[in-house]
Amino acid sequence: MASKSSYAVGWRSGTSSVRSSHISCGQFSGLRKVEFCGGSEKKKQQQNGFAFLLHQVAGAGSATSKRGVVVMVGTGKFFVGGNWKCNGTQESIAKLVSDLNATTLEDDVDIVVAPPAIYIQQVVKSLAPRIQVSAQNAWVGGGGAFTGEVSAEQLKDIGTKWLITGHSERRHILGEKSDFIGKKSAYALSKNLNVIACVGEKLEERESNHTFDVIFEQLQAFVDELPSWSNVVVAYEPVWAIGTGKVATPQQAQEVHSAIRKWLGEKLSTEVAAQIRIIYGGSVTGANSSELAKQEDIDGFLVGGASLKGPEFATIVNSGTSKKVVA
Ligand code: PEP
Repeated sequence: MASKSSYAVGWRSGTSSVRSSHISCGQFSGLRKVEFCGGSEKKKQQQNGFAFLLHQVAGAGSATSKRGVVVMVGTGKFFVGGNWKCNGTQESIAKLVSDLNATTLEDDVDIVVAPPAIYIQQVVKSLAPRIQVSAQNAWVGGGGAFTGEVSAEQLKDIGTKWLITGHSERRHILGEKSDFIGKKSAYALSKNLNVIACVGEKLEERESNHTFDVIFEQLQAFVDELPSWSNVVVAYEPVWAIGTGKVATPQQAQEVHSAIRKWLGEKLSTEVAAQIRIIYGGSVTGANSSELAKQEDIDGFLVGGASLKGPEFATIVNSGTSKKVVA
Protein backbone atom coordinates (compact mmCIF):
# COMPACT_ATOMS: atom_id res chain seq x y z
CA MET A 1 0.00 0.00 0.00
CA ALA A 2 1.43 3.39 -0.92
CA SER A 3 1.96 5.84 1.88
CA LYS A 4 0.63 9.37 1.70
CA SER A 5 4.06 10.85 1.20
CA SER A 6 5.61 8.50 -1.31
CA TYR A 7 4.28 6.14 -3.94
CA ALA A 8 6.32 3.42 -5.53
CA VAL A 9 4.56 2.28 -8.65
CA GLY A 10 4.99 -0.80 -10.78
CA TRP A 11 6.46 -0.66 -14.25
CA ARG A 12 4.23 -2.35 -16.72
CA SER A 13 4.59 -3.01 -20.37
CA GLY A 14 2.27 -3.84 -23.23
CA THR A 15 1.74 -3.01 -26.85
CA SER A 16 -1.87 -2.03 -27.29
CA SER A 17 -3.10 1.28 -28.51
CA VAL A 18 -4.61 3.94 -26.32
CA ARG A 19 -8.37 4.17 -26.09
CA SER A 20 -9.82 7.47 -25.07
CA SER A 21 -11.58 6.81 -21.79
CA HIS A 22 -10.95 3.19 -21.01
CA ILE A 23 -8.58 2.48 -18.15
CA SER A 24 -6.78 -0.81 -18.42
CA CYS A 25 -3.68 -1.67 -16.45
CA GLY A 26 -2.64 -4.15 -19.12
CA GLN A 27 -2.35 -1.51 -21.82
CA PHE A 28 0.17 1.25 -21.51
CA SER A 29 1.84 3.64 -23.88
CA GLY A 30 4.61 5.68 -22.37
CA LEU A 31 5.69 6.92 -19.01
CA ARG A 32 3.81 9.94 -17.82
CA LYS A 33 3.58 11.88 -14.63
CA VAL A 34 0.13 12.93 -13.52
CA GLU A 35 -0.72 15.09 -10.54
CA PHE A 36 -3.48 13.50 -8.58
CA CYS A 37 -5.54 16.34 -7.15
CA GLY A 38 -8.95 14.87 -6.56
CA GLY A 39 -10.91 14.84 -9.81
CA SER A 40 -8.83 17.47 -11.56
CA GLU A 41 -6.48 15.15 -13.41
CA LYS A 42 -9.23 14.07 -15.79
CA LYS A 43 -9.92 17.66 -16.69
CA LYS A 44 -6.23 18.25 -17.16
CA GLN A 45 -5.95 15.34 -19.56
CA GLN A 46 -8.90 16.62 -21.55
CA GLN A 47 -7.25 20.02 -21.73
CA ASN A 48 -4.03 18.41 -22.91
CA GLY A 49 -5.97 16.53 -25.53
CA PHE A 50 -4.21 13.27 -24.71
CA ALA A 51 -6.00 10.01 -24.09
CA PHE A 52 -4.15 8.99 -20.95
CA LEU A 53 -4.58 5.70 -19.22
CA LEU A 54 -4.27 6.02 -15.50
CA HIS A 55 -2.67 3.42 -13.38
CA GLN A 56 -4.74 2.86 -10.27
CA VAL A 57 -2.59 3.65 -7.27
CA ALA A 58 -3.94 2.95 -3.81
CA GLY A 59 -5.18 6.18 -2.28
CA ALA A 60 -4.52 8.21 -5.40
CA GLY A 61 -8.06 9.46 -5.71
CA SER A 62 -8.56 10.39 -2.09
CA ALA A 63 -8.87 13.98 -1.03
CA THR A 64 -5.58 13.72 0.86
CA SER A 65 -3.51 12.55 -2.13
CA LYS A 66 -1.85 15.62 -3.59
CA ARG A 67 1.51 14.30 -4.78
CA GLY A 68 2.71 13.72 -8.30
CA VAL A 69 2.86 10.04 -9.09
CA VAL A 70 4.71 8.41 -11.92
CA VAL A 71 2.12 6.35 -13.73
CA MET A 72 2.74 3.93 -16.52
CA VAL A 73 0.71 4.55 -19.61
CA GLY A 74 0.81 2.89 -23.02
CA THR A 75 3.61 0.53 -24.08
CA GLY A 76 5.59 1.86 -21.15
CA LYS A 77 8.86 0.38 -22.30
CA PHE A 78 11.99 2.33 -21.75
CA PHE A 79 14.20 2.30 -24.86
CA VAL A 80 17.98 2.56 -24.93
CA GLY A 81 20.02 2.53 -28.11
CA GLY A 82 23.80 2.41 -28.42
CA ASN A 83 25.30 4.03 -31.48
CA TRP A 84 28.80 2.65 -31.95
CA LYS A 85 29.42 4.94 -34.93
CA CYS A 86 32.58 4.24 -36.95
CA ASN A 87 34.40 2.54 -34.09
CA GLY A 88 35.79 -0.90 -33.42
CA THR A 89 37.52 -3.89 -34.91
CA GLN A 90 36.43 -7.52 -34.95
CA GLU A 91 38.43 -7.98 -31.77
CA SER A 92 37.19 -4.95 -29.83
CA ILE A 93 33.62 -5.66 -30.90
CA ALA A 94 33.91 -9.27 -29.72
CA LYS A 95 35.01 -7.90 -26.33
CA LEU A 96 32.16 -5.38 -26.18
CA VAL A 97 29.60 -8.05 -27.08
CA SER A 98 31.02 -10.37 -24.45
CA ASP A 99 30.85 -7.56 -21.85
CA LEU A 100 27.24 -6.82 -22.80
CA ASN A 101 26.30 -10.48 -22.65
CA ALA A 102 27.72 -10.62 -19.13
CA THR A 103 25.78 -7.64 -17.76
CA THR A 104 22.50 -7.70 -15.88
CA LEU A 105 19.87 -5.80 -17.83
CA GLU A 106 16.41 -4.78 -16.69
CA ASP A 107 13.66 -6.78 -18.36
CA ASP A 108 11.36 -3.90 -19.18
CA VAL A 109 13.70 -2.07 -21.52
CA ASP A 110 14.01 -2.31 -25.28
CA ILE A 111 17.75 -2.39 -25.99
CA VAL A 112 19.30 -1.83 -29.38
CA VAL A 113 22.92 -1.45 -30.48
CA ALA A 114 24.13 -0.08 -33.80
CA PRO A 115 27.53 -1.44 -34.86
CA PRO A 116 29.29 -0.31 -38.05
CA ALA A 117 27.58 -2.08 -40.98
CA ILE A 118 30.55 -4.30 -41.65
CA TYR A 119 30.26 -5.84 -38.16
CA ILE A 120 26.48 -6.22 -37.97
CA GLN A 121 26.57 -9.91 -38.83
CA GLN A 122 29.25 -10.61 -36.24
CA VAL A 123 27.15 -8.88 -33.60
CA VAL A 124 23.88 -10.53 -34.64
CA LYS A 125 25.55 -13.93 -34.34
CA SER A 126 27.23 -13.34 -30.98
CA LEU A 127 25.06 -10.91 -29.00
CA ALA A 128 22.36 -12.19 -26.65
CA PRO A 129 19.02 -12.04 -28.52
CA ARG A 130 17.74 -9.85 -25.67
CA ILE A 131 19.51 -6.96 -27.45
CA GLN A 132 18.46 -6.06 -30.97
CA VAL A 133 20.75 -4.81 -33.67
CA SER A 134 20.38 -1.60 -35.64
CA ALA A 135 22.13 -0.20 -38.67
CA GLN A 136 23.47 3.34 -38.63
CA ASN A 137 22.51 4.02 -42.22
CA ALA A 138 20.89 2.55 -45.32
CA TRP A 139 20.30 3.57 -48.89
CA VAL A 140 17.14 5.56 -49.56
CA GLY A 141 15.54 2.84 -51.70
CA GLY A 142 16.10 -0.62 -53.12
CA GLY A 143 19.52 -1.94 -54.06
CA GLY A 144 21.25 -1.58 -57.43
CA ALA A 145 23.90 0.68 -58.91
CA PHE A 146 24.58 2.73 -55.76
CA THR A 147 28.27 2.30 -55.07
CA GLY A 148 29.15 2.12 -51.42
CA GLU A 149 25.57 1.90 -50.20
CA VAL A 150 23.76 -0.85 -48.29
CA SER A 151 20.04 -1.44 -48.79
CA ALA A 152 17.33 -1.98 -46.20
CA GLU A 153 16.70 -5.41 -47.75
CA GLN A 154 20.33 -6.40 -47.25
CA LEU A 155 20.31 -5.18 -43.66
CA LYS A 156 17.14 -7.13 -42.99
CA ASP A 157 18.69 -10.18 -44.64
CA ILE A 158 21.50 -10.30 -42.08
CA GLY A 159 19.27 -9.91 -39.04
CA THR A 160 19.13 -6.15 -38.56
CA LYS A 161 15.96 -4.96 -36.81
CA TRP A 162 16.39 -1.19 -36.62
CA LEU A 163 17.75 1.75 -38.61
CA ILE A 164 18.96 5.09 -37.26
CA THR A 165 17.96 7.94 -39.58
CA GLY A 166 18.54 11.68 -39.44
CA HIS A 167 21.53 11.47 -37.12
CA SER A 168 23.22 14.86 -36.93
CA GLU A 169 26.48 13.44 -38.26
CA ARG A 170 24.69 12.34 -41.42
CA ARG A 171 22.76 15.61 -41.66
CA HIS A 172 25.69 17.94 -41.06
CA ILE A 173 28.79 16.00 -42.17
CA LEU A 174 27.30 13.94 -45.00
CA GLY A 175 24.79 16.62 -46.01
CA GLU A 176 21.59 14.57 -45.82
CA LYS A 177 18.51 16.75 -46.11
CA SER A 178 15.28 16.28 -44.21
CA ASP A 179 13.19 15.16 -47.21
CA PHE A 180 15.81 12.54 -48.16
CA ILE A 181 15.86 11.32 -44.55
CA GLY A 182 12.07 11.10 -44.52
CA LYS A 183 12.10 9.01 -47.72
CA LYS A 184 14.85 6.76 -46.41
CA SER A 185 12.91 6.18 -43.20
CA ALA A 186 9.71 5.35 -45.08
CA TYR A 187 11.57 2.89 -47.28
CA ALA A 188 13.14 1.20 -44.26
CA LEU A 189 9.73 0.86 -42.59
CA SER A 190 8.33 -0.63 -45.78
CA LYS A 191 11.04 -3.33 -45.53
CA ASN A 192 10.14 -4.02 -41.90
CA LEU A 193 13.01 -2.23 -40.25
CA ASN A 194 12.05 -0.17 -37.21
CA VAL A 195 13.29 3.40 -37.29
CA ILE A 196 15.04 5.63 -34.76
CA ALA A 197 14.28 9.05 -36.24
CA CYS A 198 16.73 11.67 -34.99
CA VAL A 199 16.19 15.40 -34.77
CA GLY A 200 18.18 18.15 -33.09
CA GLU A 201 19.28 21.74 -33.28
CA LYS A 202 22.78 23.21 -33.51
CA LEU A 203 24.10 25.50 -30.80
CA GLU A 204 23.66 28.65 -32.88
CA GLU A 205 20.09 27.65 -33.64
CA ARG A 206 19.36 27.22 -29.93
CA GLU A 207 21.06 30.48 -29.09
CA SER A 208 19.05 32.36 -31.69
CA ASN A 209 15.81 30.85 -30.34
CA HIS A 210 15.24 28.64 -33.37
CA THR A 211 15.27 25.29 -31.60
CA PHE A 212 11.62 24.51 -32.21
CA ASP A 213 11.65 25.78 -35.82
CA VAL A 214 14.51 23.41 -36.59
CA ILE A 215 13.04 20.42 -34.76
CA PHE A 216 9.60 20.85 -36.29
CA GLU A 217 11.02 21.24 -39.81
CA GLN A 218 12.96 17.99 -39.34
CA LEU A 219 9.92 16.24 -37.88
CA GLN A 220 7.68 17.52 -40.68
CA ALA A 221 9.75 15.58 -43.22
CA PHE A 222 9.05 12.38 -41.27
CA VAL A 223 5.36 13.29 -41.02
CA ASP A 224 5.25 13.88 -44.78
CA GLU A 225 6.71 10.47 -45.62
CA LEU A 226 5.91 7.94 -42.92
CA PRO A 227 2.74 5.91 -43.40
CA SER A 228 2.69 4.79 -39.78
CA TRP A 229 4.49 5.64 -36.56
CA SER A 230 4.04 2.41 -34.64
CA ASN A 231 7.57 1.19 -35.42
CA VAL A 232 9.26 4.53 -34.91
CA VAL A 233 11.14 5.96 -31.95
CA VAL A 234 11.98 9.68 -32.06
CA ALA A 235 15.42 10.66 -30.76
CA TYR A 236 15.96 14.26 -29.69
CA GLU A 237 19.68 14.85 -30.00
CA PRO A 238 20.82 18.45 -29.69
CA VAL A 239 23.88 18.72 -31.92
CA TRP A 240 25.75 20.75 -29.31
CA ALA A 241 25.44 17.86 -26.86
CA ILE A 242 26.61 15.05 -29.14
CA GLY A 243 30.09 13.87 -28.31
CA THR A 244 30.88 17.10 -26.48
CA GLY A 245 30.42 16.03 -22.87
CA LYS A 246 27.91 18.89 -22.61
CA VAL A 247 24.68 17.11 -21.77
CA ALA A 248 21.34 18.94 -21.90
CA THR A 249 19.89 19.55 -18.47
CA PRO A 250 16.89 17.37 -17.62
CA GLN A 251 14.73 20.52 -17.89
CA GLN A 252 16.11 21.46 -21.32
CA ALA A 253 15.50 17.95 -22.62
CA GLN A 254 12.05 17.68 -21.04
CA GLU A 255 11.01 21.01 -22.55
CA VAL A 256 11.82 19.83 -26.08
CA HIS A 257 10.45 16.31 -25.58
CA SER A 258 7.13 17.61 -24.37
CA ALA A 259 6.98 20.09 -27.27
CA ILE A 260 7.68 17.27 -29.72
CA ARG A 261 4.92 15.17 -28.20
CA LYS A 262 2.47 18.04 -28.34
CA TRP A 263 3.41 18.82 -31.95
CA LEU A 264 3.01 15.18 -32.99
CA GLY A 265 -0.39 15.20 -31.27
CA GLU A 266 -1.45 18.14 -33.40
CA LYS A 267 0.04 16.87 -36.67
CA LEU A 268 -0.82 13.19 -36.34
CA SER A 269 -3.09 12.11 -33.52
CA THR A 270 -3.34 12.05 -29.76
CA GLU A 271 -2.83 8.28 -29.94
CA VAL A 272 0.51 8.56 -31.74
CA ALA A 273 1.62 11.31 -29.38
CA ALA A 274 0.72 9.29 -26.31
CA GLN A 275 2.30 6.08 -27.54
CA ILE A 276 5.49 7.22 -29.21
CA ARG A 277 8.74 6.96 -27.34
CA ILE A 278 10.87 10.08 -27.41
CA ILE A 279 14.42 9.35 -26.36
CA TYR A 280 17.22 11.77 -25.57
CA GLY A 281 20.75 11.63 -26.97
CA GLY A 282 23.81 13.77 -26.34
CA SER A 283 26.59 12.96 -23.85
CA VAL A 284 24.44 10.57 -21.82
CA THR A 285 26.57 8.67 -19.31
CA GLY A 286 26.10 6.31 -16.41
CA ALA A 287 26.41 9.34 -14.15
CA ASN A 288 23.68 11.53 -15.65
CA SER A 289 21.14 9.05 -17.05
CA SER A 290 19.07 8.58 -13.88
CA GLU A 291 18.26 12.26 -13.49
CA LEU A 292 17.35 12.55 -17.17
CA ALA A 293 15.23 9.41 -17.03
CA LYS A 294 13.06 10.89 -14.29
CA GLN A 295 11.65 13.44 -16.70
CA GLU A 296 8.18 12.41 -17.71
CA ASP A 297 8.63 12.75 -21.48
CA ILE A 298 12.06 11.12 -21.64
CA ASP A 299 11.33 7.54 -22.63
CA GLY A 300 14.92 6.40 -23.02
CA PHE A 301 18.25 7.31 -24.59
CA LEU A 302 20.39 7.14 -27.68
CA VAL A 303 23.96 6.80 -26.48
CA GLY A 304 27.16 7.27 -28.44
CA GLY A 305 30.49 7.25 -26.58
CA ALA A 306 29.23 5.57 -23.40
CA SER A 307 27.73 2.71 -25.41
CA LEU A 308 31.24 1.52 -26.22
CA LYS A 309 31.69 0.46 -22.60
CA GLY A 310 29.52 -2.55 -21.72
CA PRO A 311 29.11 -1.95 -17.96
CA GLU A 312 28.39 1.77 -18.39
CA PHE A 313 25.87 1.08 -21.14
CA ALA A 314 24.17 -1.39 -18.79
CA THR A 315 23.98 1.32 -16.11
CA ILE A 316 22.26 3.60 -18.61
CA VAL A 317 19.85 0.85 -19.64
CA ASN A 318 19.00 0.18 -16.01
CA SER A 319 18.57 3.88 -15.19
CA GLY A 320 15.02 3.56 -16.47
CA THR A 321 14.19 2.17 -13.05
CA SER A 322 14.42 5.71 -11.70
CA LYS A 323 11.04 6.25 -13.36
CA LYS A 324 9.46 3.72 -11.09
CA VAL A 325 9.61 5.77 -7.94
CA VAL A 326 8.29 9.21 -7.29
CA ALA A 327 11.02 11.71 -6.42
C1 PEP B 1 25.02 9.96 -30.71
O1 PEP B 1 25.92 9.93 -31.52
O2 PEP B 1 23.88 9.62 -31.03
C2 PEP B 1 25.32 10.41 -29.36
C3 PEP B 1 24.33 10.71 -28.58
O3 PEP B 1 26.65 10.49 -29.00
P1 PEP B 1 27.25 10.80 -27.54
O4 PEP B 1 26.44 9.99 -26.54
O5 PEP B 1 28.67 10.39 -27.59
O6 PEP B 1 27.07 12.26 -27.29
